[in-house]
Amino acid sequence: MCIFCKIINGELPCSKVYEDEHVIAILDIAQVTYGHTLVIPKKHCNDILDADEETMIHIAKVLPMLSNKIVKNCKAEGSHIISNQGAISGQTVDHLHFHIIPRYREDDAIVVQFNETEKPDFSEVLKTING
Ligand code: 5GP
Ligand code: ZN
Repeated sequence: MCIFCKIINGELPCSKVYEDEHVIAILDIAQVTYGHTLVIPKKHCNDILDADEETMIHIAKVLPMLSNKIVKNCKAEGSHIISNQGAISGQTVDHLHFHIIPRYREDDAIVVQFNETEKPDFSEVLKTING
């Protein structure tokens, strides 16, 4: 059983931010910023490729409510909502989860940087994406 399933089953401790029938939200053990929270479906799936529609609907219902609450009550300026998909993107726990990382200052301990690369042929990219 994965570490998040053990937390969901109560076999491992956590600091619970929110819980309903389908979703749990807990403080990330490694707080990138104050209030860094993980939103996790109770039903195990490895990642978004593996998640059924119902699971994603439950997550989508909870994410805006929790991110707004965290930003407001922690007096943050904004937040990142990030889900790493696959080891290449930094996923270390193979149970789907979304990070809510409140932002307070530009020099918070998180850097998300979009570096533009050479522009591809957009029509070729569209063909590739759409198969
Ligand atoms: P990922 O790297 O897969 O995007 O995120 C996994 C997150 O889970 C990491 O930020 C890590 O700190 C957190 N994490 C790993 N083990 C535990 C744990 O036992 N309890 C809690 N609350 N967070 C954990
Ligand atoms: Zn799991």
